[in-house]
Amino acid sequence: MSPDPELSPRRAARAEAERLATAALTITPAADAPTRRQLRAESGLAAEQEGSGIRALLAVRGLTLAARRRRAGVLAAAMLIVVAGAVAIGAAASAGGAGPVAESADVDASTLVAGPPAVPDEGLPVPQIAAVAATATPCDDPAFTAALASGDDAAAIAAAGGGSAFRAAVAAGVAPCVSLSDPNREWVVVNKQRPLDPLDYRAGDLVMPQNVRALEESSLRSAPASALTELVRAASDAGAGEIGYLSAFRSYATQQSTYAGRVDVGGVEEADRESARAGYSEHQTGLAVDIVPCDGSCGTLDDIASSSQGAWVRDHAWEYGFITRYAEGRESVSGYLPEAWHQRYIGRELARAYHEGGYTTLEEFFGLPAAPTY
Ligand SMILES: [Zn+2]
Repeated sequence: MSPDPELSPRRAARAEAERLATAALTITPAADAPTRRQLRAESGLAAEQEGSGIRALLAVRGLTLAARRRRAGVLAAAMLIVVAGAVAIGAAASAGGAGPVAESADVDASTLVAGPPAVPDEGLPVPQIAAVAATATPCDDPAFTAALASGDDAAAIAAAGGGSAFRAAVAAGVAPCVSLSDPNREWVVVNKQRPLDPLDYRAGDLVMPQNVRALEESSLRSAPASALTELVRAASDAGAGEIGYLSAFRSYATQQSTYAGRVDVGGVEEADRESARAGYSEHQTGLAVDIVPCDGSCGTLDDIASSSQGAWVRDHAWEYGFITRYAEGRESVSGYLPEAWHQRYIGRELARAYHEGGYTTLEEFFGLPAAPTY
């Protein structure tokens, strides 16, 4: 995997993405979670500095809890770099367990609010920050890079600690080994600013989804094909009705004619709001499918939004790895008018993170610039 060439120069976007990623972290309460009062005692910062100091410390602790499952606080130790000196030392001391400073947190906190903890004669423990900081990216984790190299996207995401952790690392710009431009990846982002590479890319594992009514002889990559089969069955089992599909994979040449047809009808400006130019379409990845509601015969793309099938898809498609890629009111970011029918497969773990994070564009999910135009 080669690093995404677009990642490194985008430092300003990265900084903002990192801020958002940190803000979006879920802080899981734990038995040993510090109270705000204890944090204040640990940090010893002036009142106006406390807010950011404590937030940063909380972020560090939240990351620590998540990372412990697999890498025992490596990420958290690295995050300490962003914390001001006093906070860093306090956090390291308390994370270290039975150190003298940690014990001081057990003292009546009211006596500690006014100032920093007393420095013991033997001095404060020195946090080993520099040594572990370099491993804070999943790209330095052999389990992650091995999964990545094997082409197993789901295993890579699992090795990164799950969909949310993977997303956060990518959005923060600390996962240069992850390319959002690689069309073979389920996390590829294609939009008006991000053409396919190569422009005439063709997915290699295209198959027809089983037990799904196809109105065109149109295939999907194998993972989304299986997921679509499951989704359609689940919708039917839930009483939402039958879901069929019109168009899934479209080749470069097919997309050329699809787009040209739109231009013929409404001109370039209108066509660009509804249809991608060849080389810029998600359909070319084999990861996107346009669904329709069926009841005996099948309706049109426009019928899905107000159908029982569409309502079910809105609530449940993420469980099968799909997102509604072009959401209502997001044209300024996604570049397209809303398309309730256009379902994009990003894999179950990423779709879960997308759903649970309340995202409505893939651009924002990964901290990428908006792509309203070519
Ligand atoms: Zn579509």
